[in-house]
Amino acid sequence: AVADPDLTHELRALDAAHFLHPFTDHAALAAKGVRVITRAEGIWIWDADGHRILDGMSGLWCVNAGYGRRELAEAAYHQMLTLPFYNTFFQTTTEPPVRLARRLSELAPPVDGRRFTHVFFTSSGSEANDTNVRLVRRYWDLMGQPQRKVIIGRWNAYHGSTVAAASLGGMRAMHEQGDLPIPGVVHIEQPYYWQHRLPGETPEAFGVRAARWLEEKILEVGPDKVAAFIAEPVQGAGGVIIPPATYWPEVQRIVERYGILLISDEVICAFGRLGHWFAYERFGIKPDLVTFAKAVTSGYVPLGGVLVGERVARVLVDGGEFTHGYTYSGHPVACAVALANLDLMQRERLPERVRDDTGPYLAERFATLADHPLVGVAESCGMVAGLILVRDKATLEPFPEDWEVGLLCRQHCFDTGVVMRAVGARMIIAPPLVMTRADIDVMI
Ligand code: PLP
Repeated sequence: AVADPDLTHELRALDAAHFLHPFTDHAALAAKGVRVITRAEGIWIWDADGHRILDGMSGLWCVNAGYGRRELAEAAYHQMLTLPFYNTFFQTTTEPPVRLARRLSELAPPVDGRRFTHVFFTSSGSEANDTNVRLVRRYWDLMGQPQRKVIIGRWNAYHGSTVAAASLGGMRAMHEQGDLPIPGVVHIEQPYYWQHRLPGETPEAFGVRAARWLEEKILEVGPDKVAAFIAEPVQGAGGVIIPPATYWPEVQRIVERYGILLISDEVICAFGRLGHWFAYERFGIKPDLVTFAKAVTSGYVPLGGVLVGERVARVLVDGGEFTHGYTYSGHPVACAVALANLDLMQRERLPERVRDDTGPYLAERFATLADHPLVGVAESCGMVAGLILVRDKATLEPFPEDWEVGLLCRQHCFDTGVVMRAVGARMIIAPPLVMTRADIDVMI
């Protein structure tokens, strides 16, 4: 790639003058100068200064199939010429969303013999989680238990940025700015062993104890008032928080005991990221609703949605009109790209590759980073990984200014050619699933 200083200069000026970035301190950005990304291929991105950088974050946990996949562009092109848009509101449907709904329903393994028979489409993960709030409340109304309104989420979870999705999430800074959460959403602590373990406590014992925080919250709220529990199988934006193996089975026991719905937010974890099409398979959980987005199209066009299990779908479908939807629910172009993306992922066996080959290899190689004097813990799950930057390796004591240290480390990685993300003291990656072992070696 050739450096284009004029382009960088022009775009930086226009960006600073007109573009409001998500989750950005604009004064700090202006001081540093925004980085202009111009193109991408495979696992690499290029900036306008001519640097080639290994994209260790798949864009934003999206580009599982890697960049530059012609068949995804062609699927969009053909669908745009055939039928770029038609609504699905008024007794009409189109081919791509119908085929995609069936495809997803076949890909998602049944739980206890019950399938995910239906899909509600949105354009993003946030809209999908907003849909979940409407959906679970509608379900309990139809079940004759309208008092079941409370949804339990977890601190430091991320479920999106709309008013309802940010409420379900547990990002305190978002709550403070938005006067959130909305009524009827409460939170429990996250299952983060390195933060919440007791002296001498094993990860296994901690996993069970952390799951019981859910039971305590249900009892505090009143079991007959709780509608659902929402959680990411592995927390992504919170810093790749991988729960101990004992956590999810105990959560499953608790949601079954109290009959509450389980929402598995797999916006990051699905589509091969953890070595399975859906992460609930990996952890042996039995969700009623599964949120997806991002990698369903490998991020090439926006698409999200909710997979609805038979238990809820039957009641909704028989229940009269559900007064909810978006103009772009089932957008034909997005769904056509998703179908082409799933074809590609199936043909290249990307989830299996992560499960049997690159995931275990990443685990082995990433763990070696723990030998570094500033790294306390380095852990991974499939193709997500996180390490903790520490001041003291023995006690895992973080730096007091951990956010600044993380950002410095991120900057250093970027400058030396790899995208990592910093979440406080945790440095995280989620590289494209098309990575080879040799690519992993380069990244490490
Ligand atoms: N849920 C999870 C687990 C996410 O990681 C995200 C985004 O990162 C969302 C929901 C929100 O998705 P979107 O940004 O597409 O609205």
